[in-house]
Amino acid sequence: MTVWLLGDQLGPGVAPLDTADHVLLIEAHAFADRRRYHPQKLTLVFSAMRHFRDELRDRGYDVTYLRAETFGDGLDRYFETNPGDHLVGLRSPSHGADDRRRRLVEARGGTLTLVENDLFLTTREEFDAWADETGSGDDGSRTFRQEHWYRHVRRETGILMDGSDPVGGEWNYDDQNRETPPAEWTPPDVPRFEPDDITREVQTFVADRYDDHWGDPEGFVWPVTRTEALQALEHFVSVRLPEFGAYQDAMLDDEWALCHSLLSAALNLGLIRPREVVDAAVDTYESGSAPLNSVEGFVRQIVGWREFMRHVYRRSMPDLADANQLDQTEPLPPAYWTGETDMRCLSKAVEHVHDRGYAHHIERLMVLSNFALLYGVDPAELNEWFHLGFVDAYHWVTTPNVVGMGSFGTDVLSSKPYASSANYIDKMSDHCAACPYAKSKTTGENACPFNALYWDFLKRNEETLRGTGRMGLMYSHVDRKDDEEWAAIRDRAAELRARAEDGDL
Ligand code: FAD
Repeated sequence: MTVWLLGDQLGPGVAPLDTADHVLLIEAHAFADRRRYHPQKLTLVFSAMRHFRDELRDRGYDVTYLRAETFGDGLDRYFETNPGDHLVGLRSPSHGADDRRRRLVEARGGTLTLVENDLFLTTREEFDAWADETGSGDDGSRTFRQEHWYRHVRRETGILMDGSDPVGGEWNYDDQNRETPPAEWTPPDVPRFEPDDITREVQTFVADRYDDHWGDPEGFVWPVTRTEALQALEHFVSVRLPEFGAYQDAMLDDEWALCHSLLSAALNLGLIRPREVVDAAVDTYESGSAPLNSVEGFVRQIVGWREFMRHVYRRSMPDLADANQLDQTEPLPPAYWTGETDMRCLSKAVEHVHDRGYAHHIERLMVLSNFALLYGVDPAELNEWFHLGFVDAYHWVTTPNVVGMGSFGTDVLSSKPYASSANYIDKMSDHCAACPYAKSKTTGENACPFNALYWDFLKRNEETLRGTGRMGLMYSHVDRKDDEEWAAIRDRAAELRARAEDGDL
């Protein structure tokens, strides 16, 4: 039997491999001419595929590894030598990908059977049964609730459970995830996986073929094999996890990683599985080496958010990709490409993405997408930027995060926007101290752009947002401002938009 695995299905333990003797991998190149993916992302995927090929061969599999322009070209070559072959694959989380693959195979006289993608922790049936049972999302307007799903999965799997109760008595220690490190804090080491011969060869290929892509091709340190991914996991649970919880929402001017796991790229490639990273974190708690707020906080990201986003995407596509309930139409400001802005938080976050194809969750949510939300960027355009800029980006994961969570293009996964003024950024970071903009000013010469844009956003979207139920407090502040204040806010917001458009923010 032949198993056809994709570049994000590089799990040596995926179920179809148990009964296969032949594996097909197609390294397709033309997709990256259409979207200018970060060079480190392309290096990561192609290098991980080539390492996976060698690992499978070492384990005795017969591997056909094809470098081609497209899947179609690769399959033409494959079926020339294997006419009428029957292929088995894993379902892809990306919308429409399974049908496209099936059509490509059948057009060449072959057949394709797709089985459950066991690189995720929960199945489609499990989520659908939960959604049916709870009535979530059933009329297209009802919101899916991450927290309810998260508790459901904990109960079903027994992860961090003490009988029928959550370990420690609470489901969620979110309120213990909001500290910022003291000035004398030393950040833990970041593991580095230096490029080997295969990765260097891929880097050269990527640099030659995709020489106009945005992002720094140098400084590549991501794990490209399962062995390296397991080392990254071991490093995370022993070195970074203990403080992960406390500083989960923090941002520091000199720090790109803080205590985040940096595991998303390896997880999304299939090099490690969600269940094993969760088990490793829980073991660390049980051995007394990491506190509950860290371990629960991490488990929530994987069991709650990651699985939830994948299923909500599946259930909400294709509408989700173009959802834009706030009718936001502004183009992305040039600062997202140049990093050139005096706004310290924004320039640092863009720099992190440019240099590594990575920014941590709070930079993604509360700086990069918060600014775009307040500014009025079209969610689909922002989604494009996230999709091409990050090493861990795939349509199934950027779309719910960027269009849903970050841009509030739909209320399908949250009932209010993640919108905030300079206040939040100042509370959770030390950026404001190094920034020429004044965090406490809303209007006037050097007022922080987040402030006027925040109030202007609430006012512009009053009709949609005031009634959402969870925005009462914010609108009570809106109601306290008089006409003169609103006129100054509108003027300042207009001036900021004009300056941002000119790359002069
Ligand atoms: P940690 O902070 O250590 O978290 C642990 C793991 O939890 C992550 O590795 C990831 O697998 C999972 N996780 C946490 N939150 C989410 C979430 N909201 N959705 C999915 N998985 C989650 N994640 C991606 O994997 N790819 C993306 O392209 C991506 N784009 C994002 C865009 C925006 C606007 C936002 C707000 C979030 C995005 N996320 C994305 C989710 C999250 O920010 C990243 O998974 C995380 O920052 C990756 O870094 P880490 O591995 O150090 O994560």
